[in-house]
Amino acid sequence: MKKKQFVIFGNPVSHSKSPQMHNAGLKYINFDGEYIKHQLIDGNTIKEVFLQNNYSGANITVPHKEYAYENADEVRGLAKEIKAVNTYINENGKIIAYNTDAPGFLNAIESFGEVKNVLLLGAGGTAKAIALALQSKNIKVTVLNRSEGKLDFFKEHKISCFSWENFKAENYDLIVNSTSAGLKDEELPCPKEILENILKNASFAFDCIYGKITPFLALARDNNLMTKDGEDMLLFQGVLAFEYFTNTKADNSVVEAMRKGLKEE
Ligand code: NDP
Repeated sequence: MKKKQFVIFGNPVSHSKSPQMHNAGLKYINFDGEYIKHQLIDGNTIKEVFLQNNYSGANITVPHKEYAYENADEVRGLAKEIKAVNTYINENGKIIAYNTDAPGFLNAIESFGEVKNVLLLGAGGTAKAIALALQSKNIKVTVLNRSEGKLDFFKEHKISCFSWENFKAENYDLIVNSTSAGLKDEELPCPKEILENILKNASFAFDCIYGKITPFLALARDNNLMTKDGEDMLLFQGVLAFEYFTNTKADNSVVEAMRKGLKEE
């Protein structure tokens, strides 16, 4: 039988660390398969490309998560509400889709201990997954975004949300940066006056960006918060997808093998 192929679809995709993370896991469990990159230009073609190449499973990254949702044969779990998916599996020729970013985020913040009230900065695709993941665990979440435009989704889900102009702060125990501020620039995700005021009363800060101390995490550390970058979120969304791909349960040793793969230069 031909080796199973798994893939990450994105545009661009060359920077993705998913292949090294998944291949480390596949090797560790002696699975006869490989994980490759596939640059996909037109998201509308995702279903035919997936089936034509006979891929067994896929991850989907920017900018195709919504297209992937639209093109799936069946969407399972919280992804039905998020309306964006990052994982495909081929079940007897049918494309089954999941969103593992949402549970991956919940796993990543477990190390903070109990969290009751979260302020989520940003309102993009990642924020949708995080907000609904928190809501599904009955954790209170408030969204704060630079502009009004993307807030409708959160209003529809009865999540309290603000733009910078009309923000009314409360006390939050965890502040999450899900904006792209700090990714390629040295910007804070919201004006410093707002941020300093909320960090003063918070205990934890989480940045979805990984592999660097962003200005947001640096400011949180200056305010003595416990901080974490997005590496574990990336790892755990990958581990959950890996479990779907291989139909196995990843124990701690598999998770650590995948983490090692992720960190390889
Ligand atoms: P989107 O493009 O969907 O959303 C971007 C959001 O950031 C918008 O709300 C936008 O606000 C806001 N924003 C952008 N620039 C600034 C700025 N300079 N100041 C304030 N707000 C800004 O992106 P995604 O949701 O897909 O991704 C967001 C981040 O999460 C990225 O950095 C990405 O790398 C990271 N990520 C990490 C993952 C992980 O596993 N660790 C997984 C997925 C994403 P506006 O509406 O006003 O434009």
